[in-house]
Amino acid sequence: MIQIQALDKFFGSRQVLKNVSCEIKDNEVVCVIGPSGSGKSTFLRCINALEIAQAGTIKVDGFEVTNPQTDLNKLRAHVGMVFQRFNLFPHKTALQNIMLAPRKVKHLSKEAAEAKARELLARVGLAEKADSYPHELSGGQQQRVAIARALAMEPQVMLFDEPTSALDPEMVGEVLDVIKSLAHSGKTMVIVTHEMGFARQVSDRILFMDEGQVVEQGPPEKIFSRAESERTRTFLGKVL
Ligand code: ADP
Ligand code: MG
Repeated sequence: MIQIQALDKFFGSRQVLKNVSCEIKDNEVVCVIGPSGSGKSTFLRCINALEIAQAGTIKVDGFEVTNPQTDLNKLRAHVGMVFQRFNLFPHKTALQNIMLAPRKVKHLSKEAAEAKARELLARVGLAEKADSYPHELSGGQQQRVAIARALAMEPQVMLFDEPTSALDPEMVGEVLDVIKSLAHSGKTMVIVTHEMGFARQVSDRILFMDEGQVVEQGPPEKIFSRAESERTRTFLGKVL
C-alpha cells in the first residue's frame, strides 16, 4: 500500500529525514515511535505530500506522491490524516464537519453525505452529538469527530500524528478505543504515538525513529522486549 524509498528531507540545511525506506502492506497497522524531533511528523506529512522531500520516492496505493505530476487532491482523498489538534471547523456542527469533504470533493448528494456522516458518528460513539458545535464537545469528542471526518472520504490509508497528545488524560482512552476498532476492521494505518501500551496492542509492526532515521523495526513483541539497537533500548528505557 505504501512504498517509501531512500527518502531525504531537509529544512534549509538541516536534514531531518535521512535515507528513510519502508514498505507498509495493505491492512497493516504500523506505529511510529521515537524521541521528540526525530522526524516522525515529517515522515507522516511526506506520505500525503504536506511536505515535499528533496530525494527519494513514495508511492501510496499506486499514487506517486513524489512525482510533481500527481494530483495531490486525489491522493489526499485516498489518505486520511488526523492531527494532534483536531482542527474542526468551529462554525459547523459535528455532522456538517463530516459531510463537507464528501459533498465538495466526492460530490455526494446531501442525503447520501448525511447518511454516511450519521453512520460514522455512531461508529465513533457520538450519534447523539450530530448537531453539536466543536466548542460544545470535549477534546476527546472533538478528536473522535475529526476521525469520523477523515473516514468520510473512505481513505485507503489513515495517518495519525499523536492523536491523543493534546487531550486531557481521562479522554485518551476513548480516542484510542476508536482507533483500535478501526485497526481491527482492517485499514492500513500509520500512527505516530507516545502511548506505548496502545502501540504494543494495536500494531503489526513498530518503527523506531531517531535523528531522521528508521533505526529499527519489527513486531511489537520484539521491539518492546528484545530490541536489537542500543538506541531503541535506551529510548524505551526512558518511556516505559
Ligand atoms: P517529531 O515529530 O519526531 O517530533 P518533526 O518531524 O516534527 O519531529 O521534526 C523533525 C525536525 O525537523 C525537528 O528538528 C524540527 O524542529 C524540524 N522541523 C519540523 N518542521 C519544520 C519546519 N516546517 N521548518 C523547519 N524545521 C522543521
Ligand atoms: Mg511530531
